[in-house]
Amino acid sequence: MGSRKPPIRTCTGCGVTSDKREIVRFVRTPEGDVALDVTGKANGRGAYTCARLECFEGAVRKRRLSSALRVNLREEDIDRLRADLEQHLETLGRLANKDGDA
Ligand SMILES: [Zn+2]
Repeated sequence: MGSRKPPIRTCTGCGVTSDKREIVRFVRTPEGDVALDVTGKANGRGAYTCARLECFEGAVRKRRLSSALRVNLREEDIDRLRADLEQHLETLGRLANKDGDA
């Protein structure tokens, strides 16, 4: 046996290491596409940001997301990832707000 520590996931936007905070994974697929990895288990090189748009924008602006994924992010990729992240955040928000208004 051995106590295996969970992998350290550092936000490429704000640089905070997240274990408590909600975090999202981006992945570069074997095909070379970049996608939001909602499951966190997709194959490929991954990079993390907090589940916040500010962190995503920061990671893009500082080119940390593209360098972590070793890929050139085009404008259209960024737009697509942002839209996916926005949708994902909405889903998270809905799940967190279980007020019984189903
Ligand atoms: Zn962050």
